[in-house]
Amino acid sequence: MVLLPSNLAFIDLKNTNLLYLADQGLLETEALIIGLLDTEDDSKAFILDSTIFYPQGGGQPFDQGLITINDQVFNVTAVKFSEGLVYHFVEESLSQDLISQVAVLSVNVERRQLNSKLHTAGHLLDVAMSNAGVSFPPTKGYHFPDGPYVEYEGMIEPEDRKALLEKVEFEANQLIKRGSKVADLIVESYDELHQHCNFVPAYVPKDKPIRVVKVANVGCPCGGTHIEDIADLGSLSVHKIKVKSGKIRVSYRLG
Ligand SMILES: [Zn+2]
Repeated sequence: MVLLPSNLAFIDLKNTNLLYLADQGLLETEALIIGLLDTEDDSKAFILDSTIFYPQGGGQPFDQGLITINDQVFNVTAVKFSEGLVYHFVEESLSQDLISQVAVLSVNVERRQLNSKLHTAGHLLDVAMSNAGVSFPPTKGYHFPDGPYVEYEGMIEPEDRKALLEKVEFEANQLIKRGSKVADLIVESYDELHQHCNFVPAYVPKDKPIRVVKVANVGCPCGGTHIEDIADLGSLSVHKIKVKSGKIRVSYRLG
């Protein structure tokens, strides 16, 4: 994202505190407005000292919702993260006197729940693949409602794909039926990260504490939002495996 500094008013631009990492159930709270973005191409956004809004990333869509300041209501249409700051994009006009005011944030619950479900299902797919007897490193997740999938690095022969698809779907639904709480923890070292996770992507920094999310007791470095228990997924349909250029794309949908 390109910022136009002359149009960025701020009082203290420190990193936005990402409240959803510690408490995913917090869907309404207050925060201090510390900056406004108002660019020549008419992008307008709030920057807050903390936020419950999930900015798009890791294959999970951004949250939407409302920011209310006194009796002014702003519709948050997009949320993006850039260099430590979360930008809450709105369409309404912004004025300088909004800076330093306290805002009430409320996240659209339905959208968040759907995104959390689809994202958690992506983790579950990784575990189901492993339980089905294949071990491919996941390289990309797309957890949007319009056609979610996870991509893995590897190759599956055409004649083996249908059987694998059925096996993965079976394993995923076995895990859902049994149910288990989604857990998260912060690990301090790269070695510890490897103890909790089957795969650690190369982009994960080696010198910082990392959040690990455990779905069906298998860890994965992740900054997204999740549901509390995989039983709440209901069921999962794993409906397509496509292999191209060394990438295996496994498509799924909530049952
Ligand atoms: Zn996750």
